[in-house]
Amino acid sequence: MEKAKIYEQLEIAAHRAYARGIQTGNGGNCSARMEGGMIVKSSGGSLADCNKEGEGFVETTLDGTVLAPEGGKPTREVFLHGLMYRLADELGMNVGGVMHCHSPWAISWSYSKKALPMTTLHMQLKVGCDLPVVDVKTASVQPEDEPAIRKLFEENPKLPGFILVGHGVVALGKDILAAEHMAELFEETAQIAITKAACEKLGIY
Ligand SMILES: [Zn+2]
Repeated sequence: MEKAKIYEQLEIAAHRAYARGIQTGNGGNCSARMEGGMIVKSSGGSLADCNKEGEGFVETTLDGTVLAPEGGKPTREVFLHGLMYRLADELGMNVGGVMHCHSPWAISWSYSKKALPMTTLHMQLKVGCDLPVVDVKTASVQPEDEPAIRKLFEENPKLPGFILVGHGVVALGKDILAAEHMAELFEETAQIAITKAACEKLGIY
């Protein structure tokens, strides 16, 4: 895909995530694969303000080395984004985009430390497995977290993401638009799983 097209998709995905409310304020980040590395959100700033002209994004290698310094400093989750593409290459996964956002229902579910079940038909059809929850001790994913994350994808290379306890979702897709849609599906599923559990507890069914 041409780089201009990748930037266009990044803008659409970033704005959509913000408009949909799966990310507020200046949190969350996204990236897309490009030849020789990735385009990743810069540190600070809001997903709402990133644009296809490149504002709010920076180009790096998969190990996080900045390629074009005018883009500023990459998000502190740059290791996470690079890790996803490295694993994709290694395990033959079709990953061209990664969306990480602090979506509230998914975070609420994550405190259970249980995998998010395939509560809905669409989760069964589009994902086909429960969504694992990973307990990372720091505010961002670090190299010491790689073994736990790597294991999930070695066991299931079709896994479309996971949830970080008390933090947010990591959603993968063939491009960043697909990754953003996946993040919305995770959030929808978490909301339904929680309300279903509440209905059961209240004796509604
Ligand atoms: Zn985060």
